Amino acid sequence: MPRYDFDMITIGAGSGGVASSRRAGSYGARVAICEELRVGGTCVLRGCVPKKLLVYGAQFADAFADAAGFGWTVPSPSFDWPALIEAKDKEIGRLSEIYISMLKNSGVEIIDGHAALVDPHTVEVAGRNHTAENILIATGSWPETPDIPGIEHVISSNEALDLERLPRRIVIVGGGYIAVEFAGIFNGFGSEVVEIIRREQVLRGFDEDLRIHLGEEMRGRGIDIRSSTQVARIDKTAGDYRVTTTAGDRIETDCVMYATGRKPNTKRLGLAEIGVEMTENGAVVVDEWQRSTVENIYAIGDVTDRINLTPVAIAEGRAIAETLFNDNPIRMDHSDVPSAVFSNPPIGTVGLSEDAARRRYGEVDIYQTRFRPMKNTLSGRAERTFMKLVVDAATERVVGCHMLGPDAPEIIQGLAVAVKCGAAKRQFDQTIGIHPSAAEEFVTMREKLVRQKMAAD
Ligand SMILES: Cc1cc2nc3c(=O)[nH]c(=O)nc-3n(C[C@H](O)[C@H](O)[C@H](O)COP(=O)(O)OP(=O)(O)OC[C@H]3O[C@@H](n4cnc5c(N)ncnc54)[C@H](O)[C@@H]3O)c2cc1C
Repeated sequence: MPRYDFDMITIGAGSGGVASSRRAGSYGARVAICEELRVGGTCVLRGCVPKKLLVYGAQFADAFADAAGFGWTVPSPSFDWPALIEAKDKEIGRLSEIYISMLKNSGVEIIDGHAALVDPHTVEVAGRNHTAENILIATGSWPETPDIPGIEHVISSNEALDLERLPRRIVIVGGGYIAVEFAGIFNGFGSEVVEIIRREQVLRGFDEDLRIHLGEEMRGRGIDIRSSTQVARIDKTAGDYRVTTTAGDRIETDCVMYATGRKPNTKRLGLAEIGVEMTENGAVVVDEWQRSTVENIYAIGDVTDRINLTPVAIAEGRAIAETLFNDNPIRMDHSDVPSAVFSNPPIGTVGLSEDAARRRYGEVDIYQTRFRPMKNTLSGRAERTFMKLVVDAATERVVGCHMLGPDAPEIIQGLAVAVKCGAAKRQFDQTIGIHPSAAEEFVTMREKLVRQKMAAD
């Protein structure tokens, strides 16, 4: 008789938990996965996927507007928000079902309900105890809002994806990637968007030039970014809401969305009681093997609050399955993780910002370009694409690639391979470009930018 019911119990059937459980199951491990909401987690149901579907929807506004420059006559287009939300819901429902069947095909048992630890080897769900040799915490994170007057009136990205009606006016609070993405979505569908940010520029932590240029392009599209200010209070008025900022602005709006941060889901999990160390923010502290301070308890993904992205959660989850059940120990490598911001225009980025590279390497060379993409010559759109390479002067290694403009996420994914391989600037130079493309600029930048150290935000 085995000592425990399972070799591993995973708590949370999101990106990381599903990937880890499936991989473990494929190696013959006896695995159960607990889910309190719906299989699929944030990415599939409340994040990457529905968000990107709405981004695609919003981009049609540009296509209609640009078509005239290419000879098309487009009758005045109209847009049906409930139809898009219904189609999106159908698609995420389909994906959730696929996740369920993939888990079952890997022999993973799905346990519905809220899971909590009773002791290091026992998980309780709906009054029943289940035991396992190893426990994997993959419970993700949840939007967090500050405690200010009127906060009960606001929505988060969760509800923004399910609104019954498209708001005519929306105030979005926050300058992170979720906030700028939703600003682009609602702006594309024709809502009047005000974005309130605490800093001077959006996207703290990204390369300074990307931040500045994205802000300019967003403003150019009519998004009203109010910077260096915060929301003091929100009042419900006769038919709408009034947002008052610390700068004294009063903004009447139909909807207030907060995207000011997310908190790891570790409440009511029983972790502290059994000795699992957590940070002040509630994130599970793990080592390079994703192991917590309790030997048989591991944690991955957003609940560890390191790099909160789906492919990272998946890679961390698979690393655990390889280590525990395939005799293939894998330490997670968190360096040079590429990422995208599906703003309008979008961003793709990999490696270090100029500022971070200067701090790490001292002397860096910068190559950058800003140009009007070919498509915009006939469409008449004023928007410009920005590209930048950050090079360690001593080794000539490209340590950062950044782009703002159409297809940036697709282009940077390819360049991420070169950065991960440690490619030098001369190898970029030796690469022949694809013409005519925007991407070819990355292999044809010759002139070093001459400038002094940048100021950090
Ligand atoms: C609006 C938005 C857009 C995003 N866009 C992108 C993007 O474009 N690209 C990208 O890479 N990432 C994106 N992300 C981030 C990405 O969604 C997360 O990094 C990823 O989902 C983390 O996976 P996870 O497995 O850690 O957690 P999750 O996917 O959040 O899964 C955690 C699961 O655990 C369940 N759970 C929690 N507690 C319990 C419990 N006690 N018992 C049982 N079940 C429990 C939850 O219900 C949930 O299903 C986005 C996030 C948001 C919010």
